[in-house]
Amino acid sequence: MQAAGLSRHFRDLNSAQGPRVSLNGRTVLNLSSNDYLGLANDPLLKESAAAAVAQWGVGAGASRLVCGNLAPYQHLEGTLARFKRKEAALVFSSGYAANVGAITALAGKEDVLILDKLDHASIIDGARQSGAAIRVYPHFNLRKLEEILQQSQSYRRRFIITETVFSMDGDLAPLPAIVALKEKYAAWLMLDEAHATGVFGNHRRGLAEQFGVEDKIEITVGTLSKALGCAGGFVVGSQPLIDFLRNRARSLIYSTALPPAICSAAATAVEFVMSAAGAQRRDQLWDHVRALGAQSPIHPIIVGAERAAVELSERLLGAGIFVPAIRYPTVPKGKARLRVTVSAAHTPTDVQQFLKVYATYAR
Ligand code: PMP
Repeated sequence: MQAAGLSRHFRDLNSAQGPRVSLNGRTVLNLSSNDYLGLANDPLLKESAAAAVAQWGVGAGASRLVCGNLAPYQHLEGTLARFKRKEAALVFSSGYAANVGAITALAGKEDVLILDKLDHASIIDGARQSGAAIRVYPHFNLRKLEEILQQSQSYRRRFIITETVFSMDGDLAPLPAIVALKEKYAAWLMLDEAHATGVFGNHRRGLAEQFGVEDKIEITVGTLSKALGCAGGFVVGSQPLIDFLRNRARSLIYSTALPPAICSAAATAVEFVMSAAGAQRRDQLWDHVRALGAQSPIHPIIVGAERAAVELSERLLGAGIFVPAIRYPTVPKGKARLRVTVSAAHTPTDVQQFLKVYATYAR
């Protein structure tokens, strides 16, 4: 791994998440986080978590099906269902656990899972564990998706699973066309709105809202860990779907519930996102997205060679800007990149500083 420039190490941050962070004792501009609305260190969320620690303690003590189902869970799930305008919600200990739990519960060897080539590792891992047949179409290739659907009619059920905003490319799935295909071939559609929740749609519910297709989606996964600034994942959908997952999702049943304080902070974050202040915060974020010329808060700069991407990232760090290099296996070999992410907590000057420094170093 070292010879190929692929070994990984942790970077030690000595400050809270924010537009500037202290990295190895030095303050740098942070363009690496998924904290798109700047909520991870927001006073509102911190107060909510602190009050919940005082009332509920720290650990949940057990799986929610044993004795871990403390009241903050019901409150958070009710808030999420209201936010996403779905009948019900189910919270998991991470977005990763939500994808793996939902996919393995719903699909088995009689079914086929149809995945976009660039789907997140948690979708791939769920698909592999489920025992269902797996078919993969090249990124956004609808012709190939249709061909697979045509060939898949003998399976009990067909599931199309796609991210809406892709985590490493920041591009947007063509949802209206995917919905048309899933209707034509009677497939189920599962969306991972991890990077779109809080960011897209008039009411910030995600890309399905932006495209006006929310009512057509059987299963929606989201995470509390990105724009919502906390940790944990969730599934929203019909009441029967959620009842089924409560009985069958192994990552929910056999794992200790999220700390209740995180549930309280996450519910506060969702309320904030739904409010007028949340709308304003989202608009600030989009000013930065537009300044970058990006499609979403995720702006990849494709470098190609793994080592070159790491070197460029190191040079930017030398100039006080933290932009991580993303390499294989997170992205395909030879498609190493800088993954620039912006947050509403940045200022327009921060974004200009990045653009100026990048123009100097990328030559
Ligand atoms: N889905 C996508 C598209 C993601 O990018 C991520 C996080 N990297 C996850 C799911 C997992 O979410 P979490 O970090 O909350 O486990």
